[in-house]
Amino acid sequence: MDKNTKGITVKKIEDMSEWYGQVVTKAALADYSPIRGCMIIRPRGYALWTAIQTFFDKHIKANGVENAYFPMFIPESFFKKEAEHAEGFSPEVAWVEQKSDVEERLALRPTSETIMYDSYSRWIRSWRDLPLKINQWCNIIRWEVKDTKIFLRSREFLWQEGHCVYESEKECDKDTRHYLELYRKVAEELLAVPVLVGTKTKNDTFPGAVRSYAIEAFMPDGKALQMGTSHMLGQGFAKSFDIKYLGRDGGWERPWQNSWGISTRMIGSVVLQHGDDKGLVLPPRMVDKKIAIVPIQVKDADVNKKVLAQAEEIAATLKKYNPILDDRDEYSMGWKFNEHELHGVPLRIEIGPKDLEKGHVVLARRDTGEKAFVPFAEVHDEVRSLLDVIQDDMFNRAKQHMTTNTVHVKSWEDFIQADKDKKLIFAAHCSENDCEEAIKEETEGVTARCVPFKDAKTTDNCVKCGKAAAYNVYFARAY
Ligand SMILES: [Zn+2]
Repeated sequence: MDKNTKGITVKKIEDMSEWYGQVVTKAALADYSPIRGCMIIRPRGYALWTAIQTFFDKHIKANGVENAYFPMFIPESFFKKEAEHAEGFSPEVAWVEQKSDVEERLALRPTSETIMYDSYSRWIRSWRDLPLKINQWCNIIRWEVKDTKIFLRSREFLWQEGHCVYESEKECDKDTRHYLELYRKVAEELLAVPVLVGTKTKNDTFPGAVRSYAIEAFMPDGKALQMGTSHMLGQGFAKSFDIKYLGRDGGWERPWQNSWGISTRMIGSVVLQHGDDKGLVLPPRMVDKKIAIVPIQVKDADVNKKVLAQAEEIAATLKKYNPILDDRDEYSMGWKFNEHELHGVPLRIEIGPKDLEKGHVVLARRDTGEKAFVPFAEVHDEVRSLLDVIQDDMFNRAKQHMTTNTVHVKSWEDFIQADKDKKLIFAAHCSENDCEEAIKEETEGVTARCVPFKDAKTTDNCVKCGKAAAYNVYFARAY
């Protein structure tokens, strides 16, 4: 961090948008780029992405998925093979300027179904080639993005996209839901961000898919944040790209496919969900350097030496948590505290001459600010258990926020009021696209987030049009 960088100058509750921009840049997670709508991910931000990659990669590999890489350029003809897909993405696609009329126009990938499935049509011959489970970690371009915001909404971002092929519909759908479950794990167990798990409405289904599943988080400003999607593609792409295989009984068969993705957007959710007026608050499991040890310096050099020696000894016992031993003498104690708080380091250990005499340290939690004296001999055990407690508490606080801000409404009047109160709205809906669009228009922005796997059944009438409802839906404004 630059010496002259000041702390966060706006309160989260007063202006979350400005607060968010300051936290992301001042905590050095990312920076604005010279290209409008693109972001520069700095090492502190990239480390969070690496934590997500490491966690998720382990889980998908356990499910037989292998990583690969495909070109970022997609020939226009590929793009147009699946009509619904092409139409759904066409407003967002960036095209490479053509140098000659002979060459085919190329798109910068907004997603890679088309280029990958062209290869799949050549790779898949027999039922023995299935299931085929491939994932790629890459960048994505969605050019016509408006209201850009670092991590949450940008023209270019990083993600993973998994693309699998199966013999049966059942196997395909089961796995599609399995990847969604892994996304839930990433969000809840790593990021400490609670999510709703469910199906997207028809209106919001991925272009070309039969069904889209999603996890949705609820942010402190009352907006939902889609954190990840997993699409049951059915056989549509297989038909468009002529993917077929010789089945077990010797005849040609069409396979079933899914695709699924999470992106650097997840980092934005962590900032929004947990951050406070001092800056980032990071869930311990996401952070590589989990503790900052700050020796308190005094004027007596001999005393300082002893304090530093003790701090080093403590750092050694905490080695597996990659502690930062902050012995920089050009900064004041207060300045160091502020910096580690801005960066969201989960725990801080303070040790000064008086602590040395008493044989203890001061252990301070970033999430609550609570402080406790801990004897030298107990520091390791206390840190180990406290890191788990912090992780759990962060999740539980966020969960509590989501629960207390969810309202089950039965009338349109209550729906409008709940939206004004920035609530997460749970209501019965008829499932008609037009009715869903009418809700969005009339409220200027409230959308169906997902039909939950649990509690979807209802005997109520549609909250908007009054017809018999098909299911219960979560509604909210969204990032
Ligand atoms: Zn309706």
